[in-house]
Amino acid sequence: MSAFTAWPPDVTTEQLDQLTLLATTWALSHSLIYLPPFTLDKPLPPVPESAIHAPLSLFPTPVPRQLFKRALALQRAYNTLYARIALDTAFLDEIMGSGGVADVDNFSSALWTAWKQLRDEGVPPPLHLGIFRSDYLLHQPTSGERITLKQVEFNTISVSFGCLSQQVAGMHRYLSESTSYFGVSPLLSSENLPPNDTINGLAKGLAEAHRAYGISNAHILIVVQPDERNVFDQRLLEYQLFECHGIHVSRRTFTELGTAASISPSRALLVAPASPKPNETSVEISVVYYRTGYAPVDYASPADYATRALLERSRAAQCPSLALQLAGGKKVQEVLTRPGVLERFLAPSEGAESVRESWVRMWALDEGPDGEGADEAVRRARELVLKPQREGGGNNIYRDKIPQFVAQLPERERAAWIAMELIRPPRGVGAHLVRSGAGRVSASVVSELGVFGWALFVEGREVKEEQAGWLVRTKAEDVDEGGVAAGFGVLDSVVLV
Ligand code: ADP
Ligand code: MG
Ligand code: MG
Repeated sequence: MSAFTAWPPDVTTEQLDQLTLLATTWALSHSLIYLPPFTLDKPLPPVPESAIHAPLSLFPTPVPRQLFKRALALQRAYNTLYARIALDTAFLDEIMGSGGVADVDNFSSALWTAWKQLRDEGVPPPLHLGIFRSDYLLHQPTSGERITLKQVEFNTISVSFGCLSQQVAGMHRYLSESTSYFGVSPLLSSENLPPNDTINGLAKGLAEAHRAYGISNAHILIVVQPDERNVFDQRLLEYQLFECHGIHVSRRTFTELGTAASISPSRALLVAPASPKPNETSVEISVVYYRTGYAPVDYASPADYATRALLERSRAAQCPSLALQLAGGKKVQEVLTRPGVLERFLAPSEGAESVRESWVRMWALDEGPDGEGADEAVRRARELVLKPQREGGGNNIYRDKIPQFVAQLPERERAAWIAMELIRPPRGVGAHLVRSGAGRVSASVVSELGVFGWALFVEGREVKEEQAGWLVRTKAEDVDEGGVAAGFGVLDSVVLV
């Protein structure tokens, strides 16, 4: 029997109760937490009074050692690839601009139009910082077949759970060392639980961008959502920047920046301080780091798009720039799979072949002069997912819902959608999932591995980039989407098998 079908190992209810107590207590003690849920009647208090532990899995998830290593190694090639795409204005204009996706998708259009406007005004291109997460599923179409690793998507904006993923790996290590998991599996020993240095890794990317900007007492600006509950994931990064790099961070929403942000004649980005020191009217910003801005709802009005453009008009490094956000479009992911396209960006010696091997087939829903792309999507619906140009989960159309969806979709809107073969993770893996307020559930699950990386780059100079740790999110097998924030999944880590 493989590690997958025998996972998790058998434990008694008493042992599970003890693991639950140890895991949740560790989580609450180590910032593996969220702000509590809120409602319209009971909104979040402006000053937090309590937190809940993040949803978590009691056992780490088995991942073949070689595939885990490969995912980490691939990240550097992906960092370079997406940096080069973001620098290829002609390519992005063709795919995401007018005549491409921007004509049929309002959100992509708003981002691309803002970027084009800056270029038309002659604003110099920014220093780009990408904080990326490349997501994968294990792929095993039939049981007994060799397991491979296939990419779900590549994220270039507001990737989350970097810091919490380091904590959850630490929690599993603690459970392993403090209880030996009651001796229920020889696999659950520390040497099979790889270290995860995400907090340090991601902070390093931001600190490099800050140093490249060159003014040491400037602040990094985190642009945040007004009702963000995943604040501790962001705060841990903030504290790391302060404690290990001496860098101060300001947090603001788009709405606040609408009045607080301005640009000096030398294009320094200035933000009115929340709690000014004597004689301080503004702080200079070295890096704008978005933990919002990836979905239409993040822009409450046209003024927020104008604020986004204002921030990018400045000299501050942009994490991500509009170009880099557009490079992360699902459409770009599909176009890269076409013959020769990836190879325009990445040489064989830079790992192009391994990158290509990590993909499943994708195509454009509007492919072919006679609707061939849509026809194939309908014909093979049961093996497919359709994706629009959106981030943040909950936007895709799966399997049996595809034919009806395609039938009602206006033909010209097909260009905003891609079809992708479903990745088929090993079946029969189980997990014990613990969610604050909902208790513990045992379920058959699917786990998605994410690898973090960053890239700092500017036209004409070599890309500086690093891999920066990893993440596992686990969800019940019968749920199509795996968003942790959206309430579908839990945070997890790996046990190498
Ligand atoms: P988003 O940017 O909204 O996160 P994703 O491409 O990650 O969009 O899709 C959301 C979820 O849908 C993934 O986390 C995964 O659970 C599922 N999914 C997406 N693509 C595939 C695929 N090709 N095969 C299987 N599941 C997929
Ligand atoms: Mg995404
Ligand atoms: Mg995703």
